[in-house]
Parts: sequence; C-alpha cells; structure tokens
Amino acid sequence: MKVVDHPDFFDSLRTVTPAYPLRVLMSGCMMGQPCGVDGTDYGFGNALASLRQLPTVRVTGFCPEAHSLGTPRTWPDIHGGDGHDVLHGRARVLDEKGADLTAPMIEGAHAMVAQARAMDAELCLLMDMSAACGTQVISLGCRFDPDRQYQQGSGVAAAALSEAGFWVMSQRDFKSLDALMSLLDEKHKPTAGLLDHHEHPWTVGHFGGQDQAP
Ligand code: SF4
Repeated sequence: MKVVDHPDFFDSLRTVTPAYPLRVLMSGCMMGQPCGVDGTDYGFGNALASLRQLPTVRVTGFCPEAHSLGTPRTWPDIHGGDGHDVLHGRARVLDEKGADLTAPMIEGAHAMVAQARAMDAELCLLMDMSAACGTQVISLGCRFDPDRQYQQGSGVAAAALSEAGFWVMSQRDFKSLDALMSLLDEKHKPTAGLLDHHEHPWTVGHFGGQDQAP
C-alpha cells in the first residue's frame, strides 16, 4: 500500500515515543550498506539521516537484491510490466546482458517481506527507480538503452511488500516525508509547497498527469 495513495495514513499512525519508536524498514543502501550492484551504497548512505537519528524511530536496513544475487552483481530491470506483474508471472527481470534474474528477484522480494514481518514494520522507506525497491517510477526495460523508457510502477520487492499489506514510501516523496517528520519530531517545522514524486514536474511531464501507478 502506497502512503501517497492514502493521505489518511498519517492520521492513523499511533503515537510514537522513544520507548515505543516507529518501526521502519529501509532500503539498505539508504543506510550506507555497501549493497549496490557495484558494492557501494551509491552515495545514498546519508539519505534521510535527520529522520534516522530521531529517538522516535527504529530503522532496519535490508537489500533484497544483495540477499539473493550478492554484491557486486549485474543491473536488473523489469521488462513487460512492473513488480506486481513480475510477481504474477506477467513480466520478467533481465540484466543488461539479457540474463534472466526473475527468480532471484522474487526470492529477494519474499525475503524482504519476511524481514518486514519479523520486525512488524509499520512503514517501508524505499529507494525509488530501483527494479526491486522503486515505488513510484522505475525503468521499463533496460536502463542502459539509448532511449531509456520509464514507467510509473513498483519494483519487485516494493510490490511484494505492498501486496503483503505493508506501507511503502519513496525517498522522493518529499511532502509525505515532511508529514512523517512532523509526527516523529515535535521540533520539526513543516515546509510548505513540497511535492511527492508523482507530483514532481519531471514525473508529470513524462507521464502526462499526476495519476499514480496501480
Ligand atoms: S535493491 Fe534496494 S536496497 Fe538494494 S541497492 Fe537497490 S535500492 Fe538499495
């Protein structure tokens, strides 16, 4: 379930305290884990640092691709649909050499769901554009194609988390992140005019409107 599709998510969140922090599952690379395809964190290790350091949140990192494919590895991208389609046999995951990574990507997605269940995650904060963790925009086909195509949709792990009933949100959903910070930190000053990723001019320009992916 995407937070951006359900603005009442924030009204339904319980009161969080340092003794009873919000349980957040996060893409491992956003916590500095060297789990990217090239064995780095892609430089995202400081992502959402102000949120992660709050005493009212407990963050656990996980990388679904590193879990099943290891690191380093080739680049997976979804062909013929998004992560939901992969889970239901309607699309495949291929790397840039054409090797089929569908099975390990599904395995990694299920492992991330198992992690979410083990920690009873209340929110999953995920790296957008990833064929595993994307929640708003991902590649349609190989990212190295000269005329790279994009789609509004979820990666395989994000889709599995969503179908398992977990809340998912992109690190580019700035309006929702600001609302979350207001709940987690009483000193946080809300910022007016922030946009979630599907509202961003780039996204609207590419997809012709603010419709969100299913
Ligand atoms: S699969 Fe997710 S956690 Fe792993 S490197 Fe890609 S975006 Fe980060």
